[in-house]
Amino acid sequence: MSNSVPSIPLNSGSSIPQLGFGVFLVDPSETQQVVEDALDVGYRHLDTATGYNNESQVAAAIRASGIPREEIFVTTKLRNDHHKEQDVEGAFGRSLEMLGLEYIDLYLIHWPLPAHDLYVETWRKLETFAADGRAKSIGVSNFLIPHLERLFAETDTVPAVNQVELHPIFSQPELRAFHHQHGIRTEAWGPLGQGKYDLFGLPPIQAAAAAHQVQPAQVVLRWHLQTGNIVIPKSGSRERMAQNLDVFGFELNAAQMESIDALNEDRRVGGNPAEVS
Ligand code: NAD
Repeated sequence: MSNSVPSIPLNSGSSIPQLGFGVFLVDPSETQQVVEDALDVGYRHLDTATGYNNESQVAAAIRASGIPREEIFVTTKLRNDHHKEQDVEGAFGRSLEMLGLEYIDLYLIHWPLPAHDLYVETWRKLETFAADGRAKSIGVSNFLIPHLERLFAETDTVPAVNQVELHPIFSQPELRAFHHQHGIRTEAWGPLGQGKYDLFGLPPIQAAAAAHQVQPAQVVLRWHLQTGNIVIPKSGSRERMAQNLDVFGFELNAAQMESIDALNEDRRVGGNPAEVS
């Protein structure tokens, strides 16, 4: 099944479908079915992590779908304990094995863990995975500007993406501008606020949903896409998966975009990368 998701170029020379499907906190016993549904509905970009304990179930769904491997973009991430133990090569090899893949489309350092001061060393290891083709692109997650600046100063590769918490009350304008300046794509995790606040009830979201006759979640995803973010919403419900993918038939106007931009409160709902260790 084809879909209308645009592919956007990465600084590695590869490209990424701008809208994908995340599998954080999808129970391993349900992951295969959920991912099979997501692929069947039309998603071609899957976001997992070693820390989600469901890479092998994602693999089973990919195999069961019969979709050619090259048509599916797969991201996975280095788990924090493997990062701390500097078991980076071992962890990457096990991810390839669990996912049943010869290459990963995008491999990310899950968290910078600045208290351990290992992320520069770790990034140099990821550079070798890109060099030997086992990772088509490499990137980071939850990196703050000073962490990115150190990679620029001490290594040879600019991350293709930085996957960070990003949703209307935490829209990260400064970090997005920094990414833009350096050719890094911004990928939004928790794009729907992880259900941790009443995002869908906020008046600008409600008003845009009513104006376009769509669901509030679709307005939020459309705002992400028009902002230029890569988004990876998660849902266990096939109906919502389809709804979240069906966001290419309408466009928010400038006033609607501005009203959602104005919701920013610089307020995280998840962990602060400076402190996560
Ligand atoms: P999310 O913002 O995607 O929110 C998911 C919640 O929204 C679920 O409770 C779901 O029921 C609800 N939802 C989904 N579609 C809906 C719809 N159409 N209408 C109403 N409710 C809807 O949160 P998330 O899953 O945490 O983030 C998305 C993905 O980002 C994850 O699955 C994971 O792949 C990734 N992620 C990465 C990190 C990281 O540190 N890199 C951290 C968290 C998540």
